[in-house]
Amino acid sequence: MDKEINYGDDYMYIPATSVQSGEGIEVLPDVFCYTIQIVNIVLIGNPNSNEFVLIDAGMPGSADKIFSIIEERFGEDSKPQAIILTHGHFDHVGGIIELVDRWNIPVYAHPLELPYLTGEKSYPTPDATVEGGMIAKMSPMFPNTPINLGNHIKTLPEDGTVPHLDEFRWIHTPGHSQGHVSLFRENDKTLIAGDAFVTVKQDALYKVLTQEQEISGPPRYLTPDWRSAKESVMKLESLKPTVAVTGHGLPMSGKLLTESLTELVENFDQIALPEYGKYVDKDYH
Ligand SMILES: [Zn+2]
Ligand SMILES: [Zn+2]
Repeated sequence: MDKEINYGDDYMYIPATSVQSGEGIEVLPDVFCYTIQIVNIVLIGNPNSNEFVLIDAGMPGSADKIFSIIEERFGEDSKPQAIILTHGHFDHVGGIIELVDRWNIPVYAHPLELPYLTGEKSYPTPDATVEGGMIAKMSPMFPNTPINLGNHIKTLPEDGTVPHLDEFRWIHTPGHSQGHVSLFRENDKTLIAGDAFVTVKQDALYKVLTQEQEISGPPRYLTPDWRSAKESVMKLESLKPTVAVTGHGLPMSGKLLTESLTELVENFDQIALPEYGKYVDKDYH
């Protein structure tokens, strides 16, 4: 394996799952969402072509699974033109070293996310004390030291375009992480939201297990900037997406999405903001 690229020292498999794990959904003819344990990866591109892009890279230990999903959808020996990261949390880069090592393709992320992807900086430690459930309590075991993608990592173009995805543009949606981005396609209002908001309550383990659909802010235990997180949700709501694929939970569309996003914007503090936790700013209100 390429010596320059590696996972952090605390990289490990995390035993978490959901009923959706191992399921793929064709959200649109060219948008395929697949759930790895509790997190989604997205493949954008027509399955009859060899031109496609992978969004995010799953849980630790999931590289082989990702290889087989791609082979199944795009054919043997096919590989994406690039990987785009919504952000660099462990559950979105879990298979990336093996993927990059085999495919030798670029990985794009927001410039503010780069220190966490080049071995320079660790994310703030997850808040196990935050209001809400088992996943938060499990969070101290989550890998936190940064991976290093060496010279495979590239910054997203400043003009908002997305490499290899002509119809999409990226939108800076910080809060959950500083360099978090979402992807939006104007012509059919398709949104790849990452963890800017999710459709399952991450802090309630039984809801993660059943993937019961319910809009929520970003995962609580890993969100250090709630003010920005709220502004990001407002930004996405104002785009009036008709379908949204989120980092966690089932894709949401139509009236349910519109109404849920409006509700999330109007009642962000009640729905998203934890009542207590180390990243809840006392001056927030
Ligand atoms: Zn995240
Ligand atoms: Zn996530």
